[in-house]
Amino acid sequence: MADNEYLKQARGNNQLIVEHRRDFHKHAELGFKEHRTAEKVTEYLRGLNLEVQTGVAKTGVVGLLRCDRKGKTAALRADIDALPMQEKNDVPYASINPGVMHACGHDSHTAMLMETARLLVNNKDRLKGNVKFIFQPCEDMIPSGAVPMIEEGVLDDPPVDGIFTVHVSTGYPGGTLWVKPEYISISSAGFRLILRGRGGHVSSPHEGVDPIMMAAMLITSSQTLMLKRCAPGTPIIFAFGTIHGGTADNIIPDEVSLSGSIRTATPEERTAAIEAFEKIVQGITATAGGQYSLEIELQNPSIYNDPGLVALLKSAGAKVLGADKINEYTQIRTGGDDAAYFQQKVPGVYWVLGVRNEEKGYDKPHHSPYFDFDDSLLALGAAVQAQAVTDFLDT
Ligand SMILES: [Zn+2]
Ligand SMILES: [Zn+2]
Repeated sequence: MADNEYLKQARGNNQLIVEHRRDFHKHAELGFKEHRTAEKVTEYLRGLNLEVQTGVAKTGVVGLLRCDRKGKTAALRADIDALPMQEKNDVPYASINPGVMHACGHDSHTAMLMETARLLVNNKDRLKGNVKFIFQPCEDMIPSGAVPMIEEGVLDDPPVDGIFTVHVSTGYPGGTLWVKPEYISISSAGFRLILRGRGGHVSSPHEGVDPIMMAAMLITSSQTLMLKRCAPGTPIIFAFGTIHGGTADNIIPDEVSLSGSIRTATPEERTAAIEAFEKIVQGITATAGGQYSLEIELQNPSIYNDPGLVALLKSAGAKVLGADKINEYTQIRTGGDDAAYFQQKVPGVYWVLGVRNEEKGYDKPHHSPYFDFDDSLLALGAAVQAQAVTDFLDT
């Protein structure tokens, strides 16, 4: 739908959008260390005459557009961090920072939101209310940047009425939009577990309590028992990630440590799964005569998409991309995003923009050292964000 006004304007600025994205890609920075990125964003937003706040949650930047006519406040969020990994792409804009790479596409989110800001500033007279442009540090590592930004008041003054967040994905055809009402992503939790027995000589097993055996029992039986505690069809991911214990072949160690991850569709199911897991651990250690300590780290909760905002986004997306490009997920996504914390506070919509292009080789998964995508599509994402905010402020 090339006649969409925002899309026309964004396409006219395509060269600069791509330039920005490649510049961020080349100078990839880790979470809470995005100093150069934040500086570039700040400079750009100041150039647009926005009110700009810097140093929010260390390296976050927030731009505020106040329109002359009063109305609601919309927010748009982009994450700006890269990942601790070595890029293997041989492109002119490959990361020059060793061991740091934009392998999740946050460089594109940053560039798109800068363009959305330009589009909305240029069309300010048509808008009423306010728009906040939130450039958030550190999405991909824990503890992440959303919570400290909220604590520092990013959703207040003026209070945000609705928030929009996009994530690109090489999993979907270029230029397609994907969204889902209600829960769109999983809730995750990490656990660290120490199983304590009583160490001794392997020749006298009756005098010791073997934590290696406890670990073995736990790993195999918990997979089955966890499933039995969930209602049929409940999506749950339960996996051990590490196991360490022992020093020699003839010693029963004192303890074995394990860690892993529990992921469910809703925060309530996560609580239930954690409780179930602890009961299983209790039972097995008691049977074996051992003890345990269990630490749970609640990670990103599920993202809850406001159904009204999902409908609004789909309609705005259709104006820009065409109705045939709008898709609804039938299942929850197993990846997480800390945008969930913003959407626990205010109504929001988190959506995905397809940036896959197999012919150009842009089909590698996120977090791969070969991750790259079709950045000629970013004008589309910028225009959808501008159209969605315009429609939101109009209602
Ligand atoms: Zn990521
Ligand atoms: Zn990401």
